[in-house]
Amino acid sequence: MPLLVMKFGGTSVADLDRIANAAAKVKREVDRGYDVIVIVSAMSGKTNELVGWVEGTSPLYDAREYDAVVASGENVTAGLMALRLQEMGIPARSWQGWQVPINTTSAHGSARFKSIPRENIDTKFAEGMKVAVVAGFQGLSAENRITTLGRGGSDTTAVAFAAAFDAERCDIYTDVDGVYTTDPRISSKARKLDKIAFEEMLELASLGAKVLQTRSVELAMRFGVRLRVLSSFEETDETSGTLVCGEDEIMESKVVSGVAYSRDEAKITLFTIEDRPGVAQAIFGPLSEAGVNVDMIVQNISEKDYDDNHPGAVTDMTFSCPINQVARAQKALEDAKAAGKIKYDELIIDTDVAKVSVVGIGMRSQVGVAARTFEALAAENINIKVISTSEIKISVLIDRKYMELAVQALHDAFELEKA
Ligand code: ADP
Ligand code: ASP
Ligand code: MG
Repeated sequence: MPLLVMKFGGTSVADLDRIANAAAKVKREVDRGYDVIVIVSAMSGKTNELVGWVEGTSPLYDAREYDAVVASGENVTAGLMALRLQEMGIPARSWQGWQVPINTTSAHGSARFKSIPRENIDTKFAEGMKVAVVAGFQGLSAENRITTLGRGGSDTTAVAFAAAFDAERCDIYTDVDGVYTTDPRISSKARKLDKIAFEEMLELASLGAKVLQTRSVELAMRFGVRLRVLSSFEETDETSGTLVCGEDEIMESKVVSGVAYSRDEAKITLFTIEDRPGVAQAIFGPLSEAGVNVDMIVQNISEKDYDDNHPGAVTDMTFSCPINQVARAQKALEDAKAAGKIKYDELIIDTDVAKVSVVGIGMRSQVGVAARTFEALAAENINIKVISTSEIKISVLIDRKYMELAVQALHDAFELEKA
């Protein structure tokens, strides 16, 4: 029997009517002859509420209990979806992660898949079950504890099941009708893409476009899963939405294919650090041990850089990290200073920054993208604080109050509204 994976995100299962609407989409595929694995998210807002309860009880919580609590949102939806399908006459049942079992690492809050044995679900399909409804976002560690995969993780559950069960396709149903050139909530000129290359989607996701969790794109790329993003609120068919696929399936791509943003960034600067071998290690070692995800890094050129061997040379170091990791970063740096491992005069924290990025595989073969990016921002009088680039992206850190303006300016500059 051909098999499809269909994933429904939080807004698509926000209440009983929406669950019924999603179930009707599942029924359509069953009627077409598919076995279906449905992956569900928690009802919209539920996971945030659960996280709030955990933090309200224990600010420096035990991550294992955090997972036990926040994984529960998906359990409710899975049961409700199975019940709704049964009401429609479709043989369906729900599965929590541990029942499959979805085996993961023990990294609570950001666990990774180790294996998804097919046996239990396959046996039920063989007995006539048509739909397996699986709770997304969760798994089971070797220590027999419930784990979660990180926010947005149900996308990754869906792709992992599509790979494990050789699904014909993995359809991600959400509240937009595909992947756009930028977040349609930020720019009314955003244009829906029919196709996007895995690598571009990977960059966009990791730079903040939350339409797909980064890890889901990584897995789809690795296992060659046909991944599609489409609307759960509209009539859809095989041609709807956006296909995330190999570069070879895309005839021609523009230099820049999308603009992403990340609102919750912070910038930390260490003033007057020593300019000698080993200093970067002394700074970023403790940050890494404290679990801080350092993103962009800039080290100023030393005043005395012309002379490699100049004792006493000093410089400044700036880096960015997610805003909710600032307290941890600050503590790690202050502790390292107190222990005499690093020296600095001043530590300045700026929590009013955002990152805006342009992404496109066409950048590999085209020059001038950086110049055009900076020109567009300059024309709006937006100051750039930090820049970082890779082969297919340019990111800038700017004041958060200009974030939306910057996204729109870059979208215009690269004429992304035009196909
Ligand atoms: P779900 O609950 O279905 O997982 P998410 O809220 O996680 O949905 O992701 C969908 C949202 O992603 C959209 O509502 C949109 O605001 C946002 N988004 C950000 N960037 C993009 C983009 N380039 N294309 C489409 N949506 C985007
Ligand atoms: N419910 C989880 C979250 O809100 C997982 C998901 O929806 O993908 O992050
Ligand atoms: Mg999501």
